[in-house]
Amino acid sequence: MIGRGVRYCGAVVVPLWMAAAAPLQANPAEAVAKAETEQAAAAPVAPQSPSNTGSWHVREVEGVEYLPLEDLRSFYKLMVLQPKGRRVVGQRVLGNGEVTLTFGPEPRELRIQERLCILSHPVVEDSSGDLLVSKVDVLQVIEPVLRPTYIANRSAVRTVVIDPAHGGHDTGTVTPYVREADVALVVATKLGAELKKRGFEVVFTQEQNQYQSPQARVDKANETPAAIFLSLHLNSGRSDVKGAQTYTLAPVSKNEKPLPGHEFSQSSMALAMAVQSSLVEKAEAEDGGCRRAHYSPLNSLRCPSIMVEMGYATNPEEGTRLATEEYQIKLANALADGVEAFARVMNPATNLQVQKAPVVETPPPAPVKVDPAPPRKTQPAQKNQPRKKAPRRRAAPKKSAPKKPASRKNNKRRR
Ligand SMILES: [Zn+2]
Repeated sequence: MIGRGVRYCGAVVVPLWMAAAAPLQANPAEAVAKAETEQAAAAPVAPQSPSNTGSWHVREVEGVEYLPLEDLRSFYKLMVLQPKGRRVVGQRVLGNGEVTLTFGPEPRELRIQERLCILSHPVVEDSSGDLLVSKVDVLQVIEPVLRPTYIANRSAVRTVVIDPAHGGHDTGTVTPYVREADVALVVATKLGAELKKRGFEVVFTQEQNQYQSPQARVDKANETPAAIFLSLHLNSGRSDVKGAQTYTLAPVSKNEKPLPGHEFSQSSMALAMAVQSSLVEKAEAEDGGCRRAHYSPLNSLRCPSIMVEMGYATNPEEGTRLATEEYQIKLANALADGVEAFARVMNPATNLQVQKAPVVETPPPAPVKVDPAPPRKTQPAQKNQPRKKAPRRRAAPKKSAPKKPASRKNNKRRR
């Protein structure tokens, strides 16, 4: 979906899917220099952020900080689109005509537009029926995808470090249909050529089907300035499972120390979403979602970094398709499109360009209803707003007794 300019919280933002519509400057290196000059000349902007607004009602549930979905709705100026009319059990949909957030039906599933993200923590319901979303999912998944131009350490992308996984004695997954290391290397080579055509500098962690240690791959990326890192893999699992998945580094839990990769959690998620969307839309891969896990190279990378599982080598249909040159070309082009869309929003000049573009005002938020009469049909957005909300929110925060749905097992495999 190609959107238009959206006004949130008084500030203009450029959603990732919109950025894909405008052409990138031919040479990213020139764009970097131009952006730096323009940024220096521009007045500094102090964006509102979910992390620094005083109006969020943080609650702790089993050691995890949560935020009410209602706060999210109000901050991003969304309306409740569901439940009402056609209701899917366990699903809650917020939107404003430009952006749609669909929570559920599984407790860790969120779809932004139609793209699947697997949240780090399940959405939970408190005793009054309000839904809560974990703060880390708001800050590190929803915020950077909805407002990528507000990413704190956003900086222009000049070089793409491509990591064809495995190599040499390490073949990765081998099935009757395909060998992981072979496909990773072929797609990486085609992707590198495509990105060079588009003006990016490209660095490979290995080019000759040679094994490199995870540390050597990390070092190569960390010594490359203005870079992003893409590691290309094939997945393995049950023979009936298929789909492409894109991983970023999982967040730390309460008492863990952040790793170097956590500095780039927001930009990595924006990159993951751009790439995953492109794989689904351009290469017609099945959407296995953006996910987060503690994969070893992601821990130590000091740049936006993702691991792409381009499909399941173990699925007969997908494995066979992954072995064809036609699909490998499609994958490489889709990955390049995703990188280009990401590079566009990471360019600090994007704000300035977008502020000159026509802006579509979003509808005002539905006011909190104080009248005890049932809401009229002409004001559907008010239907799901508890009338007691305003007074309760002003009270001192107190711990609720949430009903926590059974959370799914964390995806914590090491590749
Ligand atoms: Zn692998």
